[in-house]
Amino acid sequence: MAENSNVADGMVVTVHYTLTVDGNLVESSRDGKPFEYLHGASNIVPGLESALTGKTVGETLDVTVQPDLGYGEREDDATQVVSRSAFPDEFTPQVGIQFFAETEDGEAIPAFITGVDGDDITVDFNHPLAGQVLDFSVEILDMRPASETELEHGHPHGAGGCGHDHD
Ligand code: ZN
Repeated sequence: MAENSNVADGMVVTVHYTLTVDGNLVESSRDGKPFEYLHGASNIVPGLESALTGKTVGETLDVTVQPDLGYGEREDDATQVVSRSAFPDEFTPQVGIQFFAETEDGEAIPAFITGVDGDDITVDFNHPLAGQVLDFSVEILDMRPASETELEHGHPHGAGGCGHDHD
């Protein structure tokens, strides 16, 4: 069944992938389990998603993704210095820690601590890979049509069901 399928919106695709930037390994699914994602649901960066469209099981591809189709360009004004008191007491700000900041309309956006100087905490809202050219090496291992629930949630469910928090 899977052999005759092509990657398209609404398919759950299982891949092994390696991501390098400037020849340096960033992450690889080959350290563990293959990675499963729902195609057409923005589970992966747009440049990689479009490169995978139409491919079949068994294919391997090397994809170079420019920042505008990856994690976006770096924005210099996305860095802010905030007071230690803006964080909960039990939270220890440290360089490299990711946390979620809540915007005025209640949306959670990822941010990273890039500096700690006494009570001055420097926070960067850029994704760590923003502005980077991403080199993906991908092998398509399997694919299947997504279930109704998966389509509704916008992500694949493993053998144990959803496994994610939903509102
Ligand atoms: Zn779910």
